[in-house]
Amino acid sequence: MLYKIFSDARFFRALLAFDRDLARQTQAAGCRQCLDGPLHVANYRRKPRGISFDDDDLCQRFSFCCGREGCRHRATPPSVRFLGRRVYFAAVFLLVSAMRHGVSQPRAAQIEKLIPVDRRTLERWRRWWRETFVQTPFWRMARGRFASLAGEGAMPMTLLAAFGFESMPSYHVPLLRALAFLGPLCASAVVAPPRSLRVESFTQRMLIDRTSSEVYSGSS
Ligand SMILES: [Zn+2]
Repeated sequence: MLYKIFSDARFFRALLAFDRDLARQTQAAGCRQCLDGPLHVANYRRKPRGISFDDDDLCQRFSFCCGREGCRHRATPPSVRFLGRRVYFAAVFLLVSAMRHGVSQPRAAQIEKLIPVDRRTLERWRRWWRETFVQTPFWRMARGRFASLAGEGAMPMTLLAAFGFESMPSYHVPLLRALAFLGPLCASAVVAPPRSLRVESFTQRMLIDRTSSEVYSGSS
């Protein structure tokens, strides 16, 4: 399944459309630092490892810079494609970390064939979810909404399961929702996690619906 997801350019384009909407919202809100200046586009290029698509836009991290002299504050919106400064796409970081039974040698070899993440990196990722992520203010605020779930020791599978990753017939929508949930975690402004597991703007809602209808109708 990982192979299917990681070679699905259409899914990554849906993530890109989602990020464009998040960027529009950030820009419309204006500068949070001086509360006055307009935000100008100041995107930068990322070089995500592990997945290569021909689409240059997919590797753009949307970002803005305040146009007011003396402020020049940088505003980086939440993203469903990138999680902080990690060199892998957020989807890769999330899914590979979620491999259920730990990182056994054969499994690590399998993943390594698919995407070049070495065993030590995998173990570091898993530790990050189970030790660092669960201590973040973001997760502390959000964890109440996941009260009915299994323990945090199974992160990030717990998170994916909450969005229906294992129970829904297609992975696209649950994965997109999980990524959208995590999006604010690494935005430049401190953003609280969504108040429920399904809060999207109208545009984002349409993007999610379109993603799922394309998948179910089998169009390409
Ligand atoms: Zn400013």
